[in-house]
Amino acid sequence: MRLDKLIEERLQTTRKNQKRLFLTGQVTVDGKSERQENRNADSQLHKIEVAGRQLFTDECYFLVFKPRGVVTANKDAVHETFLDLLREKDRTEGLYSVGRLDRDTEGLLLVTTNGQLGYELLQPAGKVSKVYEAWVKEPVTSADVRAFSSGITFHGGITCEPATLQILETTPGPTKIRLKITEGKFHQVKKMFLARGIKVLTLRRVAMGPLTLPQDLLPGDYRVLTQAELISLR
Ligand code: URA
Repeated sequence: MRLDKLIEERLQTTRKNQKRLFLTGQVTVDGKSERQENRNADSQLHKIEVAGRQLFTDECYFLVFKPRGVVTANKDAVHETFLDLLREKDRTEGLYSVGRLDRDTEGLLLVTTNGQLGYELLQPAGKVSKVYEAWVKEPVTSADVRAFSSGITFHGGITCEPATLQILETTPGPTKIRLKITEGKFHQVKKMFLARGIKVLTLRRVAMGPLTLPQDLLPGDYRVLTQAELISLR
C-alpha cells in the first residue's frame, strides 16, 4: 500500500498535516527518513514510524474512564480494579496504569503495556500536566487562586509547584473548580485544598498531558488510544 495512504488511514490526519510530517522528515521507514509519499510500504515488513512513534505496534494503550469505587491497582482483595473494567480479550499481560487515582476519584486513566512511555510521563522533570475538576465544600476566593499560583504548602511543610486554579461555578453551597497541576504527589489535590481549609467533595481528572477525557465516554468505559493521541504523547 502507498505510504501516504497507510499513514492517512492509521492517523486520520489531514492531507496538509501529513505533507508537513513528510517534509519535516518525521516519517521514517526502517529507521531512515522517507520523503517519498507515494512509495509502497508494508506494515508487516517495514518498521514505519511517524514523529518517533511506531505506526503499528503490539503494545496496548487504553484510555479508561475510571469510575468512583474502583482502585488503581492490578489486584485487590476487596475492591474492583481498573483491570476488571477491561473486556477479557483486552486483559493483556503486563498492563499497568500510568499514575494513580484515589478510589473515590474518577476520570482519565492511561492504561498501557508500554513501560517506557509510563516512565517518561511520570518523570517529575517532564512536568506532564494533569487537569482536575472538583466540587469543593467551601467558597473559593481570589486569595485562594493566588495562593495556588504561588505554590501551596501542605500542612507538614511540603511545597507544591505553582498551579492554575479556576472557579467554574459558585452556588450558595459548594463551588465547582478546575485545577491544573504539573506534579503527582500523593492525594495532591485534596491536600492542596486542605491547606486552604477547603474540603474536596468530588474529584474528576479530565486531562493528562495532551490526552483529554472524551465527552462520549461514560464512567467505567474505555477505548483504545487513537494513533494521533499516541503521537501526541511524544
Ligand atoms: N489528587 C488527589 O487528591 N486524588 C487523586 O486521586 C488525584 C489527585
